[in-house]
Amino acid sequence: MKRIRGSLALKLILASAIPSAVVLLAGLGALLEHSRRIAERDAALAFEELAFGSVIGALLALTFAGMAVALAVRHFLVKPIQGLSQVMARAELGEFLVRARVQSEDELGRLARSFNTMLSRVTDMEVTGIEATESMAHLREMELLLEVSKAVSGTLDLPELLAELGKQICQRLSISEFSVMLLDEASHQLVVEAVAGETPAAARGMRFHLGEGVAGTVAAHGQTLYLPDVEKDPRYLHYKGHTRTTGSFLAVPLRSKGRILGVMSLNRRPVDAFSPGETRLVEAIGAQAALAIANARLYQQTLELSFTDPLTAVANRRQLFLRLDQEFSRSVRFGDPLSLLMIDLDLFKQINDAHGHTVGDGVLRGVALTLRRNVRKVDLVARYGGEEFCVVLPRIGKPEALEVAEKLRRAIAAAPLPGPQGSGPLKVTISVGIATLGIDAEDIASLVEKADAALYEAKRLGRDRVAMAVPASRASA
Ligand code: GH3
Ligand code: MG
Ligand code: MG
Repeated sequence: MKRIRGSLALKLILASAIPSAVVLLAGLGALLEHSRRIAERDAALAFEELAFGSVIGALLALTFAGMAVALAVRHFLVKPIQGLSQVMARAELGEFLVRARVQSEDELGRLARSFNTMLSRVTDMEVTGIEATESMAHLREMELLLEVSKAVSGTLDLPELLAELGKQICQRLSISEFSVMLLDEASHQLVVEAVAGETPAAARGMRFHLGEGVAGTVAAHGQTLYLPDVEKDPRYLHYKGHTRTTGSFLAVPLRSKGRILGVMSLNRRPVDAFSPGETRLVEAIGAQAALAIANARLYQQTLELSFTDPLTAVANRRQLFLRLDQEFSRSVRFGDPLSLLMIDLDLFKQINDAHGHTVGDGVLRGVALTLRRNVRKVDLVARYGGEEFCVVLPRIGKPEALEVAEKLRRAIAAAPLPGPQGSGPLKVTISVGIATLGIDAEDIASLVEKADAALYEAKRLGRDRVAMAVPASRASA
């Protein structure tokens, strides 16, 4: 029985052969019985009847067998094949969730079952494929984030960092216009610190109030703003007319430790070109960038502190000698002159004694500021010690150094310095010693020594004056 159910051929044979055989036997039986009854009367007639009946019976049996075969084929073969081919046609069109009906245990039933198994494998593969595509995209985003982070954390120099950030973002995210604005603590305004892509360089340095335009709004609320079409949004200011931007615009806040540092803005030419996923990615990049910006600033501050005198805010001794070394190398290489002024406040002890140390500190600050205001940008004013200052004058020979020293002496003598509360400003004078590299000394140590000696000479001659070092050749003579 099991063999019959599992075999299409056996089913077909049995379904057509059994009824045919039954009909054939019944017909044959009826014919023999009919002939026997006739034979009792006439044997010759009976033979004729039998022959005639056999021919008719055989024809009838054949017709019946043919019909039985046709019915069996239709039931066991044609119908299941039609069902299967319909399902296959739907699967061919991408409908992988259809299933063929398994109607039997035979070859066709097994074929339908295998086909169903194949379909469910295809469905599984589709799901895995979708998951794989999603995780690939995620992986690419992570990779991009990592590379941008690596690039921006590769430097502690803020302008270099911002330039690198702009370059990376424009390249990797196909951005047309890019800018970073940082919040200026003093004025509470956003300043365009870096631009990249097609943003005009003229946009740099541009200022926006908090709440002004898109970036101003982002900084004021600390939230990302996405404009699918800048031409339809009046908040977009086109860098106050410097650009005629089209397309979509994304501005994310740069935040570190809960404080807004600035805003990073990206533009793509097509309208609505940023997906929600990309917006999240840009926010993540913004978070990394903010961290790097905060680090760079902290480093810069630490650096400045370690090179600055805390009382007077001018260079300290460390910066003084570093700079003297640099200028010495340059001087040797290019043959440029280099002069050094050594300055000491006259009778400063008396100010301290008369008004106290705090007032004395205020006077020192005032002197430092006056000195700084009266030299070039390339010159360096440094606090050498207590109430002694140095001024490094690169590319300045002896006669010009004398002019600078005299100018400073007069400026200090004229400067109203902060006095004790309730009374007027204080006046103070300075004595200055000058030494020039190549004339008075051949190295930094003796340059400082010679300037100091000249200062001592100025004091000896009565203070409030400038004295020049004695040239090495003349001193030895
Ligand atoms: P001279 O003209 O000979 O230079 O007279 P002077 O009184 O300035 O003498 P001197 O240079 O020896 O004295 C330096 C004084 O400067 C002594 C010290 O009290 C004062 N001083 C040094 N450093 C500071 C400082 O940081 N703050 C204040 N308030 N005073 C200082
Ligand atoms: Mg002094
Ligand atoms: Mg002194």
